[in-house]
Amino acid sequence: MPSIRPLSQSLINKIAAGEVIERPASVLKELMENALDAGATRIDVSVADGGLALVRVADNGAGIPADELPLAVAPHATSKLAEADDLARIGTLGFRGEALASIGEVSRLVLRSRTAAGQGGAEIEVVGGAAGPTAPCGCPVGTTAEVHNLFFNTPVRRRFLRTPQTEFGHASEAFTRIALAAPAVHFTLRHNDRQVLDLPAAEAWTERIAAVAGRELAEHLIAVESADGPVRIRGSAAHPSYSRSNNRMQYLFLNGRHIRDHALQHALAEAYRGLLTVGRYAIAFLRIEMPPDMVDVNVHPTKLEVRFQDASRLYSQLLSTLRSKFLTTDLTVRVESAPAEDASAGHDAGRAAQLRQELVDWAKGKMASWPAGSALTPGDLTPDPSPGGRGENVAPGALPWPPELGPSQAPGERRPLELTRLDPGRWAPGEGLCGRPTDQVPPEPGSPATARPLLALQVHNRYLVTESREGVTIIDQHALHERILYEHLRARIAAGGIETQSLLVPEPVDLSPAEAAAALEDRELLARLGLRIEPFGGDTVLVAAFPAMLANMNPAEVLHALLERLVAGRRKPEREDMLDDLLHTIACRAAIKAGDRLSPGEIEALLQERHLVHDAHHCPHGRPTALVFTREELDRQFRRT
Ligand code: ADP
Ligand code: MG
Repeated sequence: MPSIRPLSQSLINKIAAGEVIERPASVLKELMENALDAGATRIDVSVADGGLALVRVADNGAGIPADELPLAVAPHATSKLAEADDLARIGTLGFRGEALASIGEVSRLVLRSRTAAGQGGAEIEVVGGAAGPTAPCGCPVGTTAEVHNLFFNTPVRRRFLRTPQTEFGHASEAFTRIALAAPAVHFTLRHNDRQVLDLPAAEAWTERIAAVAGRELAEHLIAVESADGPVRIRGSAAHPSYSRSNNRMQYLFLNGRHIRDHALQHALAEAYRGLLTVGRYAIAFLRIEMPPDMVDVNVHPTKLEVRFQDASRLYSQLLSTLRSKFLTTDLTVRVESAPAEDASAGHDAGRAAQLRQELVDWAKGKMASWPAGSALTPGDLTPDPSPGGRGENVAPGALPWPPELGPSQAPGERRPLELTRLDPGRWAPGEGLCGRPTDQVPPEPGSPATARPLLALQVHNRYLVTESREGVTIIDQHALHERILYEHLRARIAAGGIETQSLLVPEPVDLSPAEAAAALEDRELLARLGLRIEPFGGDTVLVAAFPAMLANMNPAEVLHALLERLVAGRRKPEREDMLDDLLHTIACRAAIKAGDRLSPGEIEALLQERHLVHDAHHCPHGRPTALVFTREELDRQFRRT
């Protein structure tokens, strides 16, 4: 074994740099935090090639005296801490004196600065950890830090970086978090030569939130506030009809610092329990203020995690703040509001319910028109072009409705589902019994509804229970429909693409900067999904064409859902996966939901479609679509064997 040697300073610095600087977004965060600590009121950020080529942060803060520039880039040198006791009451974002040294170690760093008292500016350059001399230069009061060629001397790190687009996504998220933390500061962000964001100083926090997260979301925020002794929580949480498939829109700030905290995120999830469907995450912007000695921020190299003195008390405070607010807020108002008439309320849940109904009707019409066992033919997925959709699709006579079972089965085709033939009359008082409310479906001419066999029992408006050859099958209606739609979509894409409907009036959609960047850079991919978008200026895009099968859904909502997947950061080579991912998203959006009461015809149609699906046993998310209880198992449970 080699003998023990002290590490060289350069190696120590490189190891330290590895902890703090993971990717361009980390550089951007450290530089912006320095600017805020220097009291800047304006911070201009510019990024080239996702930050791989350049990250530049210019501020109008206090500046660094020329003679202190070498110290600023030296490790463990800071103006923010003097003695050990200061560690217990940290009021600045930085304090470890590590960031600039770490950055200089793995890039070419140029630092230019001037104080108000200084005669002129001065600059210093650090290349791979070697600092050059300090030289005079002309510059305004404040500091500009430029980081070129990040990780040029650490190829391992460089290899781990993603595409410039993905790195820019991370960088713009870091930017957004800091911009949210400091609403009174004017921030701008440029990527390559495009101005991505311009956020003038905001008076109210909600103004800043609207600027980064979109006006529409900002209009559906519920303000919350509470105080427990010196601990204050303020901010807003989104109406449950706005949610995400990940928790990245849960912004927590502690004394002006963005943090992640599992316990607090858990409190958030608890508060929304029952208001969001499984797998969805609440959106929230929350600021926690407490005396600095009640929290230790020195537990994580990037200070993303902190340790609260009384974590459980804070947990309870957050949970009760949100819960009591939700209890006094009529969260259901939108669900119950009258549909149809107010067409202006594009986003209200009444309308959403109506749209869903239209979709169910459409799907039902489509399904009915597919002869059982037939292969997919182009055009199957083209919805009725008439705008109303509803009604036309189910016109008796135009389509075989309800679909014929049994006799129309393709000859020789195995019938996977042996369907229960119960006499509906016996079950008349039963709730959720399929086959009973036949009066709600247009009966097929010449086929009295009462003569139809009972196919499945819908329970809790969620599951379909049927008899199968092996025993009893319980089907998750949403999962199955999702799988069916997904398979159809895949077939359509393979056959040349999803039908697109051009919008008469292109619809502008406000996006977050990361979403806008992803949308524009992945236009071609979105186009394959039938979604054509055009740049509109700023972070707004125009939806010019839309997948025909989603014609009844809100373009903004669909675009957000798709971009969420894109922003989640996949590498370019995995485009097919990404496409697949997006198909899942579309299928999930379009499928009937758990909780939708299905008519007998719809149940029949769903069950019939089941055979067309390659993998009817799993929904695209991998959850089972059906559970089978075998007869042997039942016999055993009932001790018949
Ligand atoms: P820390 O922020 O933890 O002190 P850094 O390495 O980020 O460590 O910065 C070192 C020192 O350089 C800071 O303490 C500060 O005095 C000075 N400095 C860095 N950036 C700026 C800036 N933008 N404006 C003024 N001073 C700065
Ligand atoms: Mg710092």
